[in-house]
Amino acid sequence: MRAIELKESIPVVRETDVLVVGGGPAGVAAALSAARQGLDVTVVEQTNCLGGIATSGLHGHICQYCSWGGEFRVVGGICDEFARSVSARGYGAYDERSFDFEVEALKLVLEEMFLKEKINILYYTQFSDVVVEDGNIRAVVIQSKNGREAVAAKIVIDATGDADVAARAGAPFEKGRADDGATQPMTLMFQIGGVDFQKVHHFREKEYPVKYGDSNKYKLHKLWKEAQDNGDMEPFQDGIMGWWHTPTRPDQLGINFTHIFGKDCTRMEDLTFATIEGRRQAFHTVDVYRKYVPGMEGCWMSHCAAMIGTRESRRIVGEYVITEQDLMAQRDFDDSIGYGSFFIDVHNCTGPGMDSETWNPPKGFKYQIPYRALLPKNVSNLLVAGRCISCTHVALGSLRVMPQCMIEGEAAGAAAAMAVESKSSPRNISIGKLQDTLRKSGAIVLQKDIVKRQP
Ligand SMILES: Cc1cc2nc3c(=O)[nH]c(=O)nc-3n(C[C@H](O)[C@H](O)[C@H](O)COP(=O)(O)OP(=O)(O)OC[C@H]3O[C@@H](n4cnc5c(N)ncnc54)[C@H](O)[C@@H]3O)c2cc1C
Repeated sequence: MRAIELKESIPVVRETDVLVVGGGPAGVAAALSAARQGLDVTVVEQTNCLGGIATSGLHGHICQYCSWGGEFRVVGGICDEFARSVSARGYGAYDERSFDFEVEALKLVLEEMFLKEKINILYYTQFSDVVVEDGNIRAVVIQSKNGREAVAAKIVIDATGDADVAARAGAPFEKGRADDGATQPMTLMFQIGGVDFQKVHHFREKEYPVKYGDSNKYKLHKLWKEAQDNGDMEPFQDGIMGWWHTPTRPDQLGINFTHIFGKDCTRMEDLTFATIEGRRQAFHTVDVYRKYVPGMEGCWMSHCAAMIGTRESRRIVGEYVITEQDLMAQRDFDDSIGYGSFFIDVHNCTGPGMDSETWNPPKGFKYQIPYRALLPKNVSNLLVAGRCISCTHVALGSLRVMPQCMIEGEAAGAAAAMAVESKSSPRNISIGKLQDTLRKSGAIVLQKDIVKRQP
């Protein structure tokens, strides 16, 4: 490939204690957590809002907050706090199991929370590069309408979901399945209006009653097969992945249905293809819904997500790699920062539907997340939070959901504050002190913090 050399001197336009790259669920929690410890925090975000897949990705449903089956709440802290706040203002519904919300309102509330903590937000700004010296990130290069600029930070938190910073800084990472590198499919979410949800709900309950451990009934497989057999539907999907509904918008549904396989979410060309293909699938789906789903006869496309939804891309290989065996054994860790409890949800990497590695847990399922999974190798002043933490492809099926990304972000922010205060690396902080800090902020870190669910 032809190459050109670019010699440039990049101005360091900002110095900050903590630079958070990416303002999704993990980045939001990281920034708030660090700022509440009194640090100067800057967040770089490529879109025009906070929330990541919860907002730009149009995924107005966060789950889950409780042990599998719903008896105990195992997620607290910032993730619980903002769900209560958004619901109290009439923009969503939270039952300590999951949180359904109006996406635009979540953007507003998150910005208000950021402004209150005086966090610097840089929208329309992409991470571009890092300057690493002796295993330390000296500066992060960003790209915006201003051109290329640099930010110097004491601690950097990679919350890009794709480990963009860690990869660029030379930290080891993996991508996709161990044998062939294939990742879970992307999904372009979309929102429809004009839905008679009671009628839809009634139809679904009657025709496809949900039984514990049999998630297939909920997905309306028979209906999509009929549409495909009649030549009305392309075979990109064979089940609903999620219809998200909030009582504050009774005739609207967020739809998780499109599936784009075999693409790499860390490549611009693939993101472009997936977005165009996702939009095509979304409009095609509306036609199918109108014809086949009782209650959706008059539905209409409201909008598609501004950002394609990534389920899986890079995962760092950190100081500890969380495995599916850890999850299934419901392991406890001395350096626990909080709990996960979602089933192992692995979408088929090469076709419609789910992968055989999907695992339905027993009732009461929950497991601890170790702090070491946020520590990348080779780079001492970098923490990683969110979808790209250190875990296996299968374990990510559970860990990738938003409450866990927020737990990791909150821990990363608090750990960053401790590292700044002690002028050391996040890998040298006291775990006991970190756990105490998190618990004081309402996080559920250890068994004794778990509470009975109060819907
Ligand atoms: C279709 C779909 C359905 C899902 N369903 C659920 C569900 O039901 N419940 C649930 O809880 N979770 C669900 N998830 C998982 C969850 O949404 C994600 O795993 C989670 O949002 C990851 O959080 P994150 O902060 O790590 O990354 P993201 O949410 O992806 O946020 C990353 C942020 O960083 C920004 N960014 C990325 N790269 C750069 C860069 N180079 N420079 C600047 N900014 C950058 C992005 O714009 C984004 O705002 C779903 C995901 C998808 C795709």
